[in-house]
Amino acid sequence: MNATPDLDAAALSHVGRVRTENEDACHADPPSGLFVVADGMGGHAAGEVASRIAVETLTEALADGPGTASPGELAPAIEEANRRIHRDARENPSRSGMGTTVTALIVDDAGWHLGHVGDSRAYLRRDGELLRISKDHSWVQEQVDRGKLSREEARLHPASSMLTRALGTARDVEVDRRDGDLREGDVFLLASDGLTDMLPEDRVEEILAGEDGPEETARRLIHESLEAGGRDNTTAVVIHVRPAGG
Ligand code: CA
Repeated sequence: MNATPDLDAAALSHVGRVRTENEDACHADPPSGLFVVADGMGGHAAGEVASRIAVETLTEALADGPGTASPGELAPAIEEANRRIHRDARENPSRSGMGTTVTALIVDDAGWHLGHVGDSRAYLRRDGELLRISKDHSWVQEQVDRGKLSREEARLHPASSMLTRALGTARDVEVDRRDGDLREGDVFLLASDGLTDMLPEDRVEEILAGEDGPEETARRLIHESLEAGGRDNTTAVVIHVRPAGG
């Protein structure tokens, strides 16, 4: 696609059925092409602060003004969010040790651009296939890489939420970046582990394949995650790509 893509998107977050606070944060802004999910962690509501700083830093750095967000700024903005969270945690002992995942997608006329840290996932549904375009920074993913766990075993593993990388827990962070092309009909999903731990990928694919718009699709994903247990905060950002003028 050469022309600026026409994007339709929805972002929904739910506290789940077990937790009392929602430490997830999300953002969807088709005009700038910026979409973000962050899943915070830390006691005394610190996780909420960490995920909020992540989303605020990214929107401020990438989507503050007219035009689309700049992919070249994606990794620096995530590194800046890391510094801000780390500093805030040092200055406020009640928030010591707080952190967050961040998964941020920019969609522009050149394609898609992903930056992420942690285990909030990005998926692309294309030609009837669900492609996981992020790679979890988690202990169970390392076991999958070593052939010791299958993806499904990893999803159901008691240590599935143990991260090997997060924002805010250290002074520096390594950001994973990935880019790809865009096609008419592409559907992206950004989701916190409250969703991906509850729903098998086959079911996620079926829901994304439906005829509904992004809002209804995000609603269904959250609804089914809650039906499956809703053990954690649950967040879905769904993005539909249509050709310009289509
Ligand atoms: Ca979570």
